[in-house]
Amino acid sequence: MAKPACFSVKAFSATAPTAPLGATVIERRSPTPTDVQIQILYCGVCHSDLHFARNEWGFTQYPAVPGHEIVGRVTAIGGGVKKFKVGDTVGVGCLVDSCRTCPNCRVGLEQYCDAGMTGGTYGGTEKHLGTPTLGGYSQSIVVTEDFVLRMPANLNLAAAAPLLCAGITTWSPLRHWKVGPGQKVGIIGLGGLGHMGVKFAKAFGAHVVLFTTSPGKTADAKKLGAHEVVVSTDATQMAAQAGSFDFILDTVSANHDLNAYFNLLKREGNFVLVGAPEKPLAVAAFALIFRRRSFSGSLIGGLPETQEMLDFCGKHNITCDIEMIRMDQINGAYERMLKSDVKYRFVIDLASLR
Ligand code: NAP
Ligand code: ZN
Ligand code: ZN
Repeated sequence: MAKPACFSVKAFSATAPTAPLGATVIERRSPTPTDVQIQILYCGVCHSDLHFARNEWGFTQYPAVPGHEIVGRVTAIGGGVKKFKVGDTVGVGCLVDSCRTCPNCRVGLEQYCDAGMTGGTYGGTEKHLGTPTLGGYSQSIVVTEDFVLRMPANLNLAAAAPLLCAGITTWSPLRHWKVGPGQKVGIIGLGGLGHMGVKFAKAFGAHVVLFTTSPGKTADAKKLGAHEVVVSTDATQMAAQAGSFDFILDTVSANHDLNAYFNLLKREGNFVLVGAPEKPLAVAAFALIFRRRSFSGSLIGGLPETQEMLDFCGKHNITCDIEMIRMDQINGAYERMLKSDVKYRFVIDLASLR
């Protein structure tokens, strides 16, 4: 396959695990017949961006451009593009491609592609150029139309950007495990993912309990939809919840004790991990084998369910609670994220890069 021509765009990259992010120029392919070229307007800041920039998962190639909560406007399309036209408002999440032929891709679960995360928006492989994919901390991106999403017209675009990862990552397990009325559901951690988990679990009709290490977030958690808030460092508050949950979703980004939460599940209750801390987490067998409890994981979401989630958010007017930053404020934003001090998602205004 001949390599397409490229064009240059401004971006912010990390050049080493300990280096702050800084300005750079990267190459994007010119749109091939099925591609959509997007001017990026806003990009959310996911904790995965920080794990990746600092090589905490061990597979980062430098220079690394994070960012997978992208919203923008279509500025050019390839000759064969059918779903989008110039001027459309679109989104791009954690995936820009997949093998498209394996059993998982064929049912719209591209995040579980048998070829692995080769189509990651960053940290994947740009199959036209043979280079690592580069994410949304940049002026524009070129994506094959099948991995581009339609943004509901009524939503504030900046506040909708984090739906592309924080939204779908919490939506997918809540939907898969059919969380709804009559169930008691726990969400652990009130960060980017957690605050969307609270909003969705509430919207699906569950009784929602937020677990936090930050007592100062209690009032916000209730405003966001939590019926109860438990400060997880308070053993008395934790003990009062023992054996009472149908479902718990764990969004914590750092090391923590899972077993304390397993003990809060009812018989056959289910604990789903979406947080992806750097180091392995310990599981105590007894916390699971008593009451036949389940422990599972979940990775982002496929393209059809992401569009379904966006449409639901449009219909119910659901967006994220955000703090807007300039691109050059990203390093300070990462430090605040590490202190669990984000209300509740940073979003970069990419006009600051132009
Ligand atoms: P975030 O905004 O930084 O939120 C994480 C929250 O976890 C914090 O706000 C804090 O909430 C809690 N927390 C942090 N350190 C803690 C500790 N040491 N002990 C207990 N609680 C702690 O991060 P995020 O963007 O929501 O991402 C969360 C995690 O999910 C990250 O590891 C990210 O890589 C991962 N992720 C996974 C997927 C997937 O597909 N599975 C997708 C996206 C992100 P409180 O202040 O309320 O305690
Ligand atoms: Zn993410
Ligand atoms: Zn596949």
